[in-house]
Amino acid sequence: MNVLVVVVDALRTDRVGAYGGRPVTPTIDELAASGTRFERAYSTINATDPALTSLQTGRLPRTHGVVNHGSHVTDAEKRAIEGTPTLPVALEERGYDTGAFGRPLGRWHRRGFDRYPELSSAHWRLKSLEKSASSLLYGIHPAIGDTISRTYNALTGRTGSDDEDGVVKQFTDFLDDAEEFYSLVHLMDTHTPYDVDDDLVERYLEEYDYENRPLSEVASEFPTGSITANSLTPGGVVNQDNERWEDHDVGVGTALARAQYDAAATEADRTIDGLLEALETRELLEETLVVVLADHGESLGEHDIYFEHHGLYESTARIPLIVRPPGESAEQSDELVSITDVAPTVLDILDGHDNREESAFDTDGQSLRPLLEDEAGWESRDSLLLEEANTQRFRGVRTDRWKYLEAVDGDPTCRYCERPHGASEQLYDLEGDPEETDDLVDERPQKAAELRDELAASLSAHEARSETSDGSDGKGVEYDDEEEVLDRLESLGYR
Ligand SMILES: [Zn+2]
Repeated sequence: MNVLVVVVDALRTDRVGAYGGRPVTPTIDELAASGTRFERAYSTINATDPALTSLQTGRLPRTHGVVNHGSHVTDAEKRAIEGTPTLPVALEERGYDTGAFGRPLGRWHRRGFDRYPELSSAHWRLKSLEKSASSLLYGIHPAIGDTISRTYNALTGRTGSDDEDGVVKQFTDFLDDAEEFYSLVHLMDTHTPYDVDDDLVERYLEEYDYENRPLSEVASEFPTGSITANSLTPGGVVNQDNERWEDHDVGVGTALARAQYDAAATEADRTIDGLLEALETRELLEETLVVVLADHGESLGEHDIYFEHHGLYESTARIPLIVRPPGESAEQSDELVSITDVAPTVLDILDGHDNREESAFDTDGQSLRPLLEDEAGWESRDSLLLEEANTQRFRGVRTDRWKYLEAVDGDPTCRYCERPHGASEQLYDLEGDPEETDDLVDERPQKAAELRDELAASLSAHEARSETSDGSDGKGVEYDDEEEVLDRLESLGYR
């Protein structure tokens, strides 16, 4: 059996039709119809480096070792992750052909992959140039910035989507050479800045009537090509003249950027369609376990967070997770599941074909197989531990009904936005208040105290594990590609 895992960076559940969201992802919806949709799936953390590491190791950030992202990753974290087993390494050792495609994160993420995307390409240098030049050029004249943007898109063979042909073609070439394979595809379409097809945005704009004013009417005032990471400021969206749309409440610019986000979700969905079609035409789909998920969600204005994944609110912490094993599987599951469950699931299902007992892969997750097969064997969780990366402002727990969040050092100020998104302790009843607008920490002190204890117990349990799982001997770890990776993350607007 083969395995294809597709990560759509920063994809929200409410932009996946199968989750009752906006109908912008027909391929994912179809996949969900023949697989299992996990209604209450969560990432471990709000940033890609540690979240993707949770996916590949089946562990929480504090037990795989990497809590931070990008340039914030410390030497101690690098040493810790070098000593942690990963899924691609385990599968490569079993003789699988392993290939990663899409956005390369390099460094430790590269371990275990026979094929890994090239980092030092003209593509990325151009992307960096575009990013650094665009704000300057938009300042001089928006048309110049737009021209640069379009030239970049033309030169890199894309019309807005994120290197769609490249990813599908690379995956297809890999399939033609592979026998049994494990493939990880990482799509960045729904991460800012959105490079999306203008026609698609225009179409989705129709559905975002803002105060009875069709957005398409204002699109000319606010060229879609000009919404870049620079337009998406902590206070909302600014136009090419640096005017903020505060007069319009969250602003028509924000709604326009939301339409771009939707278009980006469709573009990622089209890439997934290409991947599945490549499997189907080779008659491999029925021999492949397909997983589609996000590394974390995205806040599109909720809690005063614009087009970023700060905080541990549902918009960011909750992720879509669809697992389609070959053959029949349950329609959906409402259990609390985690990104850490994917690696043990893959190993459990693969080993089921010869010897299940071989699944000696030490994780914090649980195999989802009983839920997929609608059988006994799943142990329901009391809670999931959530953490915030880099900033490390908040930690929290999500239980069946509640979410409790606590500022690590008592200061709730967001390090990026320089203002708090909530109080230093927060309590939400997700059953009655799924949008987390009503903080009940003062009203329900007993519930808050109970969850404060639950969080403390969870942290100390995993802290103890973290100390024993660090297999490092204190040696320094240097990655050849580190500088390039960090440059590239910077060019994408990561900090
Ligand atoms: Zn923030």
